[in-house]
Amino acid sequence: MIKRLIGKMLKRKPRNAAALGEPVVVPRDQHKVSRKQLSPNALKVLYRLRDQGYDAYLVGGCIRDALLGLKPKDFDVATSASPDDVRDAFRNCRLVGRRFRLAHILFGREVIEVATFRANHNAETAVDDAGRILRDNVFGTIEDDAIRRDFTVNALYYDVSNFTVIDYVGGMQDLEARQIRLLGDPDVRYREDPVRALRAARFAAKLGFEIEPATAAPLAEVGRLLADIPPARLFEEVLKLFQGGYAVASLEKLREYDLLQFLFPSVDERLHRGEPLATALCERALANTDARVLEEKPITPAFLYAALLWPDVQEHYESNLANGDMPPIPAMHAATDTVLAEQLRITALPKRFSAVVREIWTLQPRLERYKGKRATKAMESPRFRAGYDLLCLRAAAGEPLDELATWWTEIQTGEEAERARLVREETAARQREEGRRNNRRGGRRRGGGGNRKRGGGRAENAS
Ligand code: ATP
Ligand code: MG
Repeated sequence: MIKRLIGKMLKRKPRNAAALGEPVVVPRDQHKVSRKQLSPNALKVLYRLRDQGYDAYLVGGCIRDALLGLKPKDFDVATSASPDDVRDAFRNCRLVGRRFRLAHILFGREVIEVATFRANHNAETAVDDAGRILRDNVFGTIEDDAIRRDFTVNALYYDVSNFTVIDYVGGMQDLEARQIRLLGDPDVRYREDPVRALRAARFAAKLGFEIEPATAAPLAEVGRLLADIPPARLFEEVLKLFQGGYAVASLEKLREYDLLQFLFPSVDERLHRGEPLATALCERALANTDARVLEEKPITPAFLYAALLWPDVQEHYESNLANGDMPPIPAMHAATDTVLAEQLRITALPKRFSAVVREIWTLQPRLERYKGKRATKAMESPRFRAGYDLLCLRAAAGEPLDELATWWTEIQTGEEAERARLVREETAARQREEGRRNNRRGGRRRGGGGNRKRGGGRAENAS
């Protein structure tokens, strides 16, 4: 009862609510969102909140993508219930976020994000000297919520009670015209949150849309504000830009609006200079990532960083070798330290990935001095496969490594596969023999696990 009352109070328009006209309500037979495209868990959340007297809608990327006939990636709910109300309504709920307090409802691996209608910025919104929003937890109405979103196409609401799409901001028209339009005054909105500049480029890339002129105009200026964004947040954006299956298109848009310099400055410089190897390496790395996403193969930001920054590492490594009497291994370590330190100041990379990036890089000179014992040792590295993949990419990008890459391919598919097979056979035979012996002694001892594991590991690498 009390909850219902508070819910009603929240629905009431606050004094400073934006004066929006009546929304366009698109009936179910005039839009492409079908319940089949929607997550059953998201629908469960909507029904539960509605049963408890709150308003609740699906909003954002899921509705935008469903309207375009694309498969929604994840589902966001906007509601009149406060975060505490949401927590009370669901056992499987966790409250998260400092700048925005959100509820995450967990269904196994699926997370439904539930946000309370947020008011657009007003006196109570904490803003820093540059106009950046620090805290934004003022609750409001659905109209308020619509206009504080970033782009018109991201501000469409789906009402499960009657299957309509509700549009307060002209999002349906922009979707039709295939354009990304920032809500409100672009200068102000970019200053509030400069990451919106990257998001504009990303959605244009992902959806194949144009950025509408007034939204595109400030991009050249506002990009530099990205320098103040925490590196961890920029890392998240890098993942979305380059690991969503549209990395090649993202690079194109970032370059069109000169935003790449704020994420990967050294790559941007090399592309501007038209360095053929670096350009080919970057383009191939991104195209490969897109292909792997499409095939649902695993991808890692470690490989992406390793490939994009390899030309820098190579340059430092060679100058370390040339400049002094540094032996190759310390020269490589110094190069990886320098390059990672510079990049991670801009876009963070969690330790578990940066350690892998280093290993991929340090494998390169080892793979270049192949043959004999060294070769088989390199193959035992857990990063061998990624190191080998980078070597092949470098060869494909034009480094004179073709012969070497072929040798490494053959040793895995040919000789090494044969060797792995022999090891497996030998291990199996030994285990059979041990088993027989144990049986004779009454089965008191068991053994052979360690060997079995090693043989299996090799076979996997060779496959
Ligand atoms: P996708 O999930 O495909 O990357 P999305 O539009 O769902 O796209 P999210 O980052 O999941 O993007 O955000 C969900 C919604 O939250 C957006 O559609 C938008 O309405 C709102 N939103 C997200 N980030 C911002 C922002 N920086 N400023 C204003 N609104 C935002
Ligand atoms: Mg989303």
